[in-house]
Amino acid sequence: MIVLVINCGSSSLKFDVLDVEAQQTLAEGQVERIGAVSSLASVRVGDGKKQRKALQAADHGEALRFVMKTLFEGDEKLDATIDAVGHRVVHGGEHFADSVLIDDEVVEAIRDAFDLAPLHNPANLRGIQAAQAALPDVPHVAVFDTAFHQTLPEHAYLYAIPNRLYRRHKIRRYGFHGTSHYYVSRELYKLADLDKRSSRVISAHLGNGCSLAAIRDGRSVDTSMGMTPLAGLVMGTRSGSIDPSIVFDLVEKEELTLAEVHTLLNKYSGLLGLSGYAADMRDLLAEADDGDVRCRQAVDVFCYRVKGYIGQYLAALGGADAVVFTAGIGQNSPRIRAQICAGLEGLGIEMDAARNEAASGTAAKISTDASAVQVWAIPTNEELVIAIDTQKIAQARAQSPYA
Ligand code: AMP
Repeated sequence: MIVLVINCGSSSLKFDVLDVEAQQTLAEGQVERIGAVSSLASVRVGDGKKQRKALQAADHGEALRFVMKTLFEGDEKLDATIDAVGHRVVHGGEHFADSVLIDDEVVEAIRDAFDLAPLHNPANLRGIQAAQAALPDVPHVAVFDTAFHQTLPEHAYLYAIPNRLYRRHKIRRYGFHGTSHYYVSRELYKLADLDKRSSRVISAHLGNGCSLAAIRDGRSVDTSMGMTPLAGLVMGTRSGSIDPSIVFDLVEKEELTLAEVHTLLNKYSGLLGLSGYAADMRDLLAEADDGDVRCRQAVDVFCYRVKGYIGQYLAALGGADAVVFTAGIGQNSPRIRAQICAGLEGLGIEMDAARNEAASGTAAKISTDASAVQVWAIPTNEELVIAIDTQKIAQARAQSPYA
């Protein structure tokens, strides 16, 4: 089955076309700066050249129409028909513990979660509506970032605020990056020959956004992001967890509005805020090497926070069989992995320096054979998880007598 995977942000549309059986990407690309005076598209079909083009895309519908035209009428055409569309949806609230076929009820539930993810869900829904208009005859499936974490126990998802706020507004921990934590844990079971049914895994998704998950017997039991993706680890531009009192302090001392504090914590904090230089880990490492103190501090705070969560999840799981690193930083940076795991020998984590150094962008074990806790680096593939789920649901619909 050929699946179009769509991931919409407020001003961007990313897409991948996958042949699910062959687990092969047939085309990929994105349109950025949707709604601005000039948008920018890049599309690659197969192993071909990346085609870049400036265009005017007033909304996600126009962006998607451009993508479809480029894919099926451009110089380098895609020789395939799209059978189904899988949509990444950031927040499924408590409604969705699994991916679903999109119907009117699902659209309403995604709308219900606007409150919980005001930056993400409206954009995701715009993408769904644009794709339904462009491809009205194929099934559309929603795959939620939060779904994998719906197995969290109450003691992990409740915040210590008046309980009526949970009952009234569903204020609780949800967690994100579910498709990524799911994918790397499943790859790990195969590669490390672990029995999923009696396994304890700590998964570290370290990219622009970062989160850790504690996974017992294949199910997520804790995760570092919260009601929104702002909580937990230090990220590219997001602060991660801070003392909530700081928000009131900023309003008072810096005379910021709440909306400005929201922007400050989401867009100008994290690695960017600490370093005053960049959100990108590669840039920070280069500057730290050149002696920039703030860039080194940013890297140190980042690593220390991850280390702390590993300790917390070792306690939550009563030890671990494996820790797995993934996403841009986790799968590519031996140096960050080494700094995070340094000094954890007492907790059973013993890195193999040569294996760690050699593992960049490929799946590999990076701990010593004697290490009680195995450590792995495994590239993530969220698009593949979305495509596989989409195929499963589309096939079930095709076989249903009510289709
Ligand atoms: P992602 O959001 O998964 O694309 O990850 C983006 C982050 O990964 C950025 O901070 C990049 O600087 C970082 N990254 C990618 N490659 C490397 C690398 N070789 N070393 C360190 N960081 C990297």
